[in-house]
Amino acid sequence: MGGKPVRESYLAYGKQFIDDDDITGVVSVLKSDFLTCGSKVEEFEAKLCEVTGAKYCTSVANGTAALHVACMAANISEGDEVIVPPITFAASANCVLYCKGTPIFADIDKDTWQMDLEDIKRKISPRTKAIITVDFTGQTGDLRGLKELCKLKQLTLIEDAAHSLGTVYNGKPVGSIADITTFSFHPVKTITTGEGGAVTTNSKILNKKIALLAKHGITRDVAFKKEDVSNWYYEQVALGYNYRLTDIQCALGISQLNKLTKFAQRREEITQMYNDAFADIEEITLQQSTPKCIPVKHLYIIRLNLDKLNCTKKEFYDAMQKENIGVNVHYIPINTFPYYKNLGYGSKCKNAQEFYEQALTLPLFYKMEDKDAEDVINAVKKIIAHYGSLANS
Ligand SMILES: *Cc1c(COP(=O)(O)O)cnc(C)c1O
Repeated sequence: MGGKPVRESYLAYGKQFIDDDDITGVVSVLKSDFLTCGSKVEEFEAKLCEVTGAKYCTSVANGTAALHVACMAANISEGDEVIVPPITFAASANCVLYCKGTPIFADIDKDTWQMDLEDIKRKISPRTKAIITVDFTGQTGDLRGLKELCKLKQLTLIEDAAHSLGTVYNGKPVGSIADITTFSFHPVKTITTGEGGAVTTNSKILNKKIALLAKHGITRDVAFKKEDVSNWYYEQVALGYNYRLTDIQCALGISQLNKLTKFAQRREEITQMYNDAFADIEEITLQQSTPKCIPVKHLYIIRLNLDKLNCTKKEFYDAMQKENIGVNVHYIPINTFPYYKNLGYGSKCKNAQEFYEQALTLPLFYKMEDKDAEDVINAVKKIIAHYGSLANS
């Protein structure tokens, strides 16, 4: 739209990184006897425990299954309310509906873009059973405040950590802080297994439920075993699902986790390049950090101060695309979707709505070169130079 684009090839907003170790790992499973229910599953789960500091981990088919199992383990059922943010992927709220519970949307803080603790407190009722906090962009919310609140009100704290594998809060890695933490290994996330997810907890009781519900609700636990059956014993004790992750995927997860430190470092380097470039641009607002949180960034989002720009967000978005930069929008507030409106939702969360009207996600992934990040920066600056307040003064 502004003449020659800043780059010739299209830069996606997110992308996986697969190397020879990943391929070797997957191929060795394909040549083995167990494609699922084998030793790679346990190995991946043990490695996730190591990385997250959690006592227990159950790998599952995807991040949505992880959230579903988490809500079931928290005993969410009809009549129960669960507090969730509106600015997240739909699955963070859908999981409550799967259990016939009622999601209650709490507004976000306008600076950190995490759920606002004060609004959560306002939305708690005698029916509230859990809070799902989402580590939006890779940054946690006020986990200390949330934990205190959950303890006081006897609520389960579920942390949707689809964005935040490797993030540390108050010296502890994400996965060992909330009652239950869920992860996703979709290809745009920090590590990938194709599709995949995991649930971690430090509670032996919760873990038992999680593991059971992810595997049909069927147990081989000899504690249940009757006198007159032999080794064929198994018994269904709950209505669970087949949410298993395969050994093929777990092998990929293991080799991906070996690269987590370098993935995190590169994401941090690109984040710093963006932060430095955008810090003094008055047309843009950046996310403020959560105290005590050292994030591994999954998304880099800028907010367009549209009152200082002579364009709409759509025009800015389209202009970035024309520059061959794959910008994206995370997220449209869930409570405004047609499906949720039909359920009676729709009254807007003010800060969430304002955020959505301004937010634009820039490319951020391990494989990005410095030159790619520079292209993104140049494209943003070019468009601001065209539409920005300085252009008219
Ligand atoms: C990706 C994502 C999910 C869902 O994970 P899937 O593996 O795609 O099912 C849930 N919550 C958030 C915040 C996500 O970004």
